[in-house]
Amino acid sequence: MNVEDRQPDLIIKNAKVLTMDPDLPRAEAVACAGGKVLAVGRSADMAALAGPDTVVIDADGRTLLPGFVESHLHLVLGGAELEQLQLGGVAGFEALKAAFHAYATANPDRPILLAQGAAYEILDHPVTRQDLDAVIADRPIAMMAPDHHTVWANTLALTQAGLLHGADTPHGHVVVMAPDGTATGELREFEAFGPVLALGGEAHLQLGIATGGEPDPWPDAAQRAADKEKIVAGLAHCARHGITSMVNMDGNRYTCVLLKELEAEGRLTARVVVPFHMKPHMDLSELSRASAMAEEFKGDWVRSGFVKMFQDGVVDSRTAYMLHAYPGTDEQGEPLFDPARFKEICIEIDRRGLQIAVHAIGDGAVQVTIDGYEAARLANGPRDSRHRIEHIELIDRADVPRLGALGITASVQPPHPPGAMEFPMSTMEHVFHRDRWKDAYLWKTLADHGAPLAYASDWPVTDVNVMRGIQAALTRVPYAGCQDERVGLMETLHAYTAGGAWAAHLEDLTGTLKPGLAADLVLIDGDLESLPPLGIGATGIALTVSGGRITYEAPGFA
Ligand SMILES: [Zn+2]
Repeated sequence: MNVEDRQPDLIIKNAKVLTMDPDLPRAEAVACAGGKVLAVGRSADMAALAGPDTVVIDADGRTLLPGFVESHLHLVLGGAELEQLQLGGVAGFEALKAAFHAYATANPDRPILLAQGAAYEILDHPVTRQDLDAVIADRPIAMMAPDHHTVWANTLALTQAGLLHGADTPHGHVVVMAPDGTATGELREFEAFGPVLALGGEAHLQLGIATGGEPDPWPDAAQRAADKEKIVAGLAHCARHGITSMVNMDGNRYTCVLLKELEAEGRLTARVVVPFHMKPHMDLSELSRASAMAEEFKGDWVRSGFVKMFQDGVVDSRTAYMLHAYPGTDEQGEPLFDPARFKEICIEIDRRGLQIAVHAIGDGAVQVTIDGYEAARLANGPRDSRHRIEHIELIDRADVPRLGALGITASVQPPHPPGAMEFPMSTMEHVFHRDRWKDAYLWKTLADHGAPLAYASDWPVTDVNVMRGIQAALTRVPYAGCQDERVGLMETLHAYTAGGAWAAHLEDLTGTLKPGLAADLVLIDGDLESLPPLGIGATGIALTVSGGRITYEAPGFA
């Protein structure tokens, strides 16, 4: 029996369907069978397809979209962090102390008390280990900045991690030292704070972001089961926000193996694309591991096929690589890859037929990255590579048209611009010269110059809630004297669905509602087009369907 003859197992009718399919952009209903979209059209026509076993859901005028594609997140880390102390919104010493004490009481056995979301300005001065000792001194504690690029630890945590008197760290990763020769407590970038996080006993889960290496020894079934629970928690959190596909921006083979096991157990509720993480110290020959992962994992639910690299750090800690010095300093950060070698790496990855995704935040890092992609194109000839750049927080004007010309996707995060959602406007003053604000956090300008857009949260860096992301994208206020970088509602939704799917080479599978593609759907709990933009973030998800299976249903939604 071919798919057209099948009786639908699910019909959603009376919806405002925004399909993202240019041939039929709007419809009223979608019928699904066998995990795929069977038909899209009018409610009466779809309802006529129903058989005795068909589940028919009346959407009552709600907006139905292709399931959201989260183009940049960290699923394993996000899942693990759900059980850590959350410091978002906490400010001042007394509030910080109260939060840690409550968490310590509730978690008497944790080997380290880890907190997330600590604002860089959580205290009125740079945080030191002595500050954190005054919070709790007799248990190791540490807190991470929202951007995940800085950790502050108390003296006991630094001592247990072997960092109190400094450490040999790779270029760009810094144990900040005080004049007395001890660590201040501030640890910049992963290889500086990795030993502190490792005190929690989950170091093997950090490998995907830290070294790109594999756990050794390979985790036994009991360890894998514990690890999978964290992923399942992360998946459930994402399903609640309508996400049916995601691009995991760290990874190793172990990540893929855990996901494949979840798939086999029927517990994988989203499609996950996982990269090989290439580090600056690695030999070109290590890319054979990337090719092996691409070969081993190429299913509809777990897929590899791309290589992730970090070209720089972040703006707040001034580790983002800029073409000019930061305001009031002579620092401009540095590229993590030597530019000539980066070109060689890009040529080799591209030659292997793999995609490249590079974290590049400063305008210097963005330029070095584009140069690498251009070198690959020159060396190997044009192909459907879809190399992409993650973040692009500042760009040199001369580089803007190069993205579109080379087909480079701008993978950007609507929640990230200071002032747009959670990050404070103070960052703008500290890290960008006033005359460069017009080149910061560009979206529309990049799109107008031909760059495909994909939107994401970078969870757990910011809230994974797509509705809040859409609101941030639509309500962002232009910086003083700068152009409006918003794109319209449809382009925004496209960047969270079909655009993300295309950027991940998933467009033949998902991201659009049309017959034959996956039954990946999200039903918004309202009519998105008539909601005021400032009300979108508070609007929930009524239903998430992934591969035809309901993975989230709002309480009370029938
Ligand atoms: Zn990220």
